[in-house]
Amino acid sequence: MLLPDLREQVLQANLELVRQGLVLFTFGNVSGIARDRGLVVIKPSGVPYDSMTPAHMVITDLSGKIVEGDLRPSSDLPTHLALYIAFAGIGGVAHTHSEYATSWAQARKPVPCFGTTHADYFHGPVPVTDVMKDSEINSDYELNTGHAIVRAFQKIDYSAVPAVLVANHGPFCWGPDAGVAAHTAAILEAVARMAYFTLRINDSADAVGSALHDKHYLRKHGVNAYYGQAEEKK
Ligand SMILES: [Zn+2]
Repeated sequence: MLLPDLREQVLQANLELVRQGLVLFTFGNVSGIARDRGLVVIKPSGVPYDSMTPAHMVITDLSGKIVEGDLRPSSDLPTHLALYIAFAGIGGVAHTHSEYATSWAQARKPVPCFGTTHADYFHGPVPVTDVMKDSEINSDYELNTGHAIVRAFQKIDYSAVPAVLVANHGPFCWGPDAGVAAHTAAILEAVARMAYFTLRINDSADAVGSALHDKHYLRKHGVNAYYGQAEEKK
């Protein structure tokens, strides 16, 4: 079996979505990439989480051709592949229909940064894609979903804002590996929920100022990061 460690990591990241209450039934999918091999490991389509094993994971190349696996890959595979191709530094992608993040996606509103929880993880609002055109939906829908995400990041650093809301659909998150991508999906859901409540309490609440936003983001990320233990620094 190819890439046994990555299969296990991708399985565990998929199960983490369930543990965090981010998916219903078989919704949601996580993948991971072995950059040196050009191979992607992704959840199979439609297999219940409680019976999923590493052997169920499907391995494809970056064109989507199945390299190993008897099951069909998640139907969102072309979206994941578009992100791996466009965002060269990422190692994992997670997609959910988690309730609050999806509500913001359906409202077609970016999640503003109202506080330090958001600022710790996302160096800016979490953007929302443009609405997809009928022609993009009618053919190569999942690939075009990936292209819509990439367009939303033309002026945003994907490594500093590792999540997006696909308009009228839901969030995609990414990170250096599948586990971090799944973790980011949980953080996004929490900040989307808090942003919703913030606006319920004060519908004219302002986003945090750049000094506080930068302080929280930059103390955990980048060359001058000092949060956590030295060996945990990235
Ligand atoms: Zn979806």
